[in-house]
Amino acid sequence: MEYVPTIPESLASRLRWFDGYFHASAELRGNLQLDNLFARYSEQTGSSIVPCIWYPPSEFEQKFGIRYSKFTTDGNRERPWVETYVMELLNRALQKKVSDIHITYMGPYAQVYFRRMGLLQEDEPLNGEEGKQLIRGIFQGIFSQAESGFTEFERYDGRIADRKFLPEGLFAVRLHSEPIQSPLIASPGIALAMRLLYDATSATGPVMQRLKSLGFTPEQQKLVNSFTEHSGLTIVSGPTGHGKTTVLKNIMEALAQYTPTKNYYSLEDPPEYTILGVRQLNVFTKAVSDAERERALLEALAGLMRSDPDVILLGEIRYLEAAKAAINAALTGHGVWSTVHANSAIGIIARLHEMGMPLESICTDGVLNGLMYQRLMPILCPNCKKSLHKTPEVISPDLWNRLQAVYTHGEIDAICLRGDGCPHCDGLGLVNQQVAAEVISTDDRQLVALLRANRLYEAQQYWINEGGKTHVAHALDRIASGDVDPVIAEERLGLTLDHDLHQGE
Ligand SMILES: [Zn+2]
Repeated sequence: MEYVPTIPESLASRLRWFDGYFHASAELRGNLQLDNLFARYSEQTGSSIVPCIWYPPSEFEQKFGIRYSKFTTDGNRERPWVETYVMELLNRALQKKVSDIHITYMGPYAQVYFRRMGLLQEDEPLNGEEGKQLIRGIFQGIFSQAESGFTEFERYDGRIADRKFLPEGLFAVRLHSEPIQSPLIASPGIALAMRLLYDATSATGPVMQRLKSLGFTPEQQKLVNSFTEHSGLTIVSGPTGHGKTTVLKNIMEALAQYTPTKNYYSLEDPPEYTILGVRQLNVFTKAVSDAERERALLEALAGLMRSDPDVILLGEIRYLEAAKAAINAALTGHGVWSTVHANSAIGIIARLHEMGMPLESICTDGVLNGLMYQRLMPILCPNCKKSLHKTPEVISPDLWNRLQAVYTHGEIDAICLRGDGCPHCDGLGLVNQQVAAEVISTDDRQLVALLRANRLYEAQQYWINEGGKTHVAHALDRIASGDVDPVIAEERLGLTLDHDLHQGE
């Protein structure tokens, strides 16, 4: 009997089966789901040749006349399909704890991707016209504050903040689109990135408990907790999307809950989350120039300082004037928490210095409490992770050599790799994300003296010799306990696992 493959719904708009052939649109080449389908075909028929006819995407569309029936507006002008589609999309993303949605329009077709636990996955394909309508609708429609008149030639920023479009649990969606090169059309394609900002995080309880569930070590929990106990400035650094805001939100919420006798304020541009118990000031301006934005921020800061705050969360220090204001607030007895873009905890000092901040002003008594740096690591599903020990050949020989260089006490035996997925992890092989972090307390006079003298490399070495754990060392611990896949760890760290061994060479 002839075997008839079942085409998964997610591929149905780009793949057909008839006359004993697969008919596929060319952008499916290399698609994992399709490869699985082909493998199953070959298994069932006993044939190593899978009959498939490939078409350029536009030709495939013409030949098979693809349209999503759910997108037809059927004369209902009250709710355009774009709105319905976006609401469904956000709902689906929320269920799957997606952090970002990417919609890429390439001319004849468009594709929706979800980022979960830091990894990008295909969601569903759209036909080109619908993809373009969708992106245009998101920017022009009632969803965002972006100006109307969308064209594919320009970049746009916007925001979906209207609660009636956001499912319960989502605070806002930040939008950014860029024109991209598409080999398939003369005019540009469009890449739209949607960052989902959630209302709540899973962590609860006092500061230490929340830090623990975010992945900080007991020593790091104690240090950060000590920063909350007196005035001074603590700065968190790390790449975008690696949980800086989440950590600060959790610290502020825990403080507001457990020390309600203080006055908590946040100043963000604009607020990314709801923070319970904190008065959140919004600096969102329509200002286009950096100078105008900076002035708006400083005015808001001045206003905030007149509001009798005790603890302040400053979204991000981007300008010298903001850095000065943060340091002044710390000097005048406030707890100040903020973020800065830097490559390490010590690198925060270098970054502030580059902005024009004199080191003597930063590294002086009563200003700095702590410096933190973090990256998020996906945590392996305990149900389906695989032991590296059993299949060492699946990792590259180079990585194997690096693991042998850093793990010299038999820790390699406990290392695990991402599994194939199971119901427990919704097929992902990963269950959540936790930090690989470094936390430096600046209450050590010798350390502060080195920082003030701009001897940052020596400061780093001194700190390590005194027992400081770098974020790479923290990641190594998590790998050695079988919680983090070493391959994924190198991707997320952006460096090799033997990085610390080569410092100072
Ligand atoms: Zn699993």
